[in-house]
Amino acid sequence: MRTSPRRPHYHGMEHVTDHDLERFYLGMVPDGSPEERAIEEHLLWCRKCVARAEASDRYVDAIRAAIIRGNFDLE
Ligand SMILES: [Zn+2]
Repeated sequence: MRTSPRRPHYHGMEHVTDHDLERFYLGMVPDGSPEERAIEEHLLWCRKCVARAEASDRYVDAIRAAIIRGNFDLE
């Protein structure tokens, strides 16, 4: 854990969107891409997005479970 909360140079960018959090947790954001790094680094300091990410993570788990069961009802 870093002890000095150095502000990322991109501070001021908008919060990670729900859409991007979902893509991040669904593995749709390419490994090592600037987008993935930006999301990961944002989650290091933004509690709000971490909380939303955790909620999104559960949401994604629910989707995955539904897909596995084969009864995911696409609208
Ligand atoms: Zn945020």
